[in-house]
Amino acid sequence: LRAEMGNMERLSLVGQMAASITHEIRNPMAVVRGFIQLMKQKSPDHLDDYYKIVMEELDRANSIINDFLSLAQNRIVEKERIHLHDLINTISPLLQADANLRGQEIMLKLQECVPELLLNPKEIKQLLLNLARNAMEAMDEKGSLIIETRYEGQGVDLIVKDNGPGIPKATLDKLFEPFFTTKTKGTGLGLPLCLSIVERHNGTIRVESEEGQGTTFIVSFRTEDTLQAMLQPQAI
Ligand code: ADP
Ligand code: MG
Repeated sequence: LRAEMGNMERLSLVGQMAASITHEIRNPMAVVRGFIQLMKQKSPDHLDDYYKIVMEELDRANSIINDFLSLAQNRIVEKERIHLHDLINTISPLLQADANLRGQEIMLKLQECVPELLLNPKEIKQLLLNLARNAMEAMDEKGSLIIETRYEGQGVDLIVKDNGPGIPKATLDKLFEPFFTTKTKGTGLGLPLCLSIVERHNGTIRVESEEGQGTTFIVSFRTEDTLQAMLQPQAI
């Protein structure tokens, strides 16, 4: 797609991105400025609250910049033959700790005999973290998150499933748009980043959601031999 774009189109895309990022960074900056002014005026007993808000907003600006950078540099990443389950097992204690604090539970359903895949470990961990965090943020206590793998000959599916509130039909289309968020502290860059990671791995990501039932994100990776067959020049 990028190659097909003309110069004007590319420039206007850059312009649009610049406009959105400017807007997104200005918001937390305005909040920080406002609260620092208040810190000077009000009685010191409010200071703790203001300090907390200022720190949170600065962190948010920082995450926006970090996520945006990873999104903007559509770089070629190094991949290695690695087992998806190894990555899931590295991340799961982290998620488990988070879930405990929220009173939620996490279940792993890892299918046996899943083959190794060509993956960039850092990116896939990020992908899993983003999907799992979204699920946990959507659920209340007693929510349960299932991380599942399935091997079906053609490839391996990584499935992140929650029993949260689900996503309204009208919103489903917007999920992967940069800066789309329904959270007061969201960046709206988590899913766009997931999409770009999956694309760099020649995979696909889709979402199934039913309001009141929950949401399932399904990432499909192709196994190495399917990938090789895909990349082979066609015989004439
Ligand atoms: P952020 O998490 O910063 O809002 P994301 O790009 O990660 O940004 O997600 C965009 C939006 O998609 C969220 O604000 C939320 O409305 C919706 N969403 C993502 N995952 C889920 C989920 N598992 N359940 C319900 N809504 C979700
Ligand atoms: Mg998110």
